[in-house]
Amino acid sequence: MPEGPEVEFAARLLRERAVGRTVEAVAVTRGAGRLLRPLGPAAFSRALAGARVEGVARRGKHLLVTAAIGAARLGLLSHLGMTGKWIGRAAGGAPPAHLRASLRLDDGTALDYVDPRGFGRLRIVAGARFDEVAALAALGPVALAAPIDVARLAARLARTRRSIKVALLDQRLLAGLGNIHAGEALWRARLDPRRRADRLGSPEVAALARGVTAAVRFALGRLRGPGIRYVEEGGENPFRVYGRAGAPCPRCGEAIRRIVQGGRSTFLCRRCQG
Ligand SMILES: [Zn+2]
Repeated sequence: MPEGPEVEFAARLLRERAVGRTVEAVAVTRGAGRLLRPLGPAAFSRALAGARVEGVARRGKHLLVTAAIGAARLGLLSHLGMTGKWIGRAAGGAPPAHLRASLRLDDGTALDYVDPRGFGRLRIVAGARFDEVAALAALGPVALAAPIDVARLAARLARTRRSIKVALLDQRLLAGLGNIHAGEALWRARLDPRRRADRLGSPEVAALARGVTAAVRFALGRLRGPGIRYVEEGGENPFRVYGRAGAPCPRCGEAIRRIVQGGRSTFLCRRCQG
């Protein structure tokens, strides 16, 4: 599932390829209907055609594309869902599998949105008024964009009796942090994911903030370099504990365990996360 770093990578790709360019045509494939709601494919394509892309931002797992058609402003909100990706296509290149929507730019290249499972979203935001989108307003501080405000994180954790791991996945707490990186952050912070969020002491919250930053930086570092590389399930596993049940903990050698919290897998070392 795309997490903060993957979404950040998609934002960089869109920024590099689209800002300053005009969308000449939009093609929507069959099966994309659910992604575009409430607009239909024709209305979606009409709305974007001719738009000049001005900027791309990321908020949590959402990509915010700001564009203009003449004096009118327009927003495109993209959420990658479970399996969504943006891919650049050279002029004359073949369309990728699972293509849902394709924006042809005025330099002949295209930006393709692929999404095998189709749980993502592509939504036109009139006037680029993203602050009026409820899903965005509900998000908390961005996990990646700035250093984590430890006092604010502590205050938010203190208000919930959920386990730390489940609390960390609440996008209002720390927007952009997904399941994999939450687990990695807890291992780095040597915190038991099952502990109640409101029972953490100040040094533990500080350690957690450092763990989140380190886990996210690690993932972002891997995403740099040529080509598009997503950190995802099924591929090479670069993580310390994620997906490593039974393997030795890289820190102490104890076998990594898998547990389920809130319906999601958590991997932990019971010795150093005690
Ligand atoms: Zn360990």
